[in-house]
Amino acid sequence: MAFTRATGKHRAPSRLTRRSANLAGVAALATTGVIGTFASPALAADAEAPSVEDTGLTQIVTMGSLADEIADQAAAQKKEAEEAAAKARARAKAEAEAKRKAEARAEAAREAKERAAREAERKRLNSYRLPIAGSFVTAGYKTGGALWSSGSHSGVDFRAASGSSVVAVGSGTVVEAGWGGAYGNNIVIRMNDGTYTQYGHLSSIGVSVGQQVTPGQQIGLSGSTGNSTGPHLHFEARTTPEYGSDIDPVAYLRSHGVSI
Ligand SMILES: [Zn+2]
Repeated sequence: MAFTRATGKHRAPSRLTRRSANLAGVAALATTGVIGTFASPALAADAEAPSVEDTGLTQIVTMGSLADEIADQAAAQKKEAEEAAAKARARAKAEAEAKRKAEARAEAAREAKERAAREAERKRLNSYRLPIAGSFVTAGYKTGGALWSSGSHSGVDFRAASGSSVVAVGSGTVVEAGWGGAYGNNIVIRMNDGTYTQYGHLSSIGVSVGQQVTPGQQIGLSGSTGNSTGPHLHFEARTTPEYGSDIDPVAYLRSHGVSI
């Protein structure tokens, strides 16, 4: 029994020695100023304050202080991160808003362009022009003479070398395309405003009945077919598709904005 006890007693001082060494280590830290808090005169002067050697609390208190510091730093870092995140969100929002505005501007520009294109097309379809570009009248409306079977010219003659491009003066639908007796090869178009235009003495016809035509669209080539003394274009404006319902073609074209 005594033997085993002796062994036990023998171990105790060993533990004490290790503890003392630990405390000595803490004291060493305090004196080197690493644990600065306890080097302050106020604490040193406090008689109640337990010495480092007595309690071994230094590390705990210091750790507490460090923990506070770390917590403060963490809080500050968290705040910074939150502020940065808020700034990033604000930036993203501003960028999104700028993008939205740019898209809206682009859309508005696109719509304006489309509107302008539609308006231009509407104007084009409503505008009239000469049946032969750059031509002029060589025989006026209602001029008399033996030349016309009716005794009076039912249209006007435009100067045109054979094979000149003959175009629809406005938008409409072809209602006649073929041989027209004294008119030779002729085309009659029912215009969109309900009037009719006729093109005679053609050398060739390029459209067929029922076809839609637009202003300036070529419908045939000029010639001298039918009752004609030479190449030219006979042009009539009518209130019906029939011969005899003719109106002044020059006044008609002028009323549709054509300079003639
Ligand atoms: Zn004529």
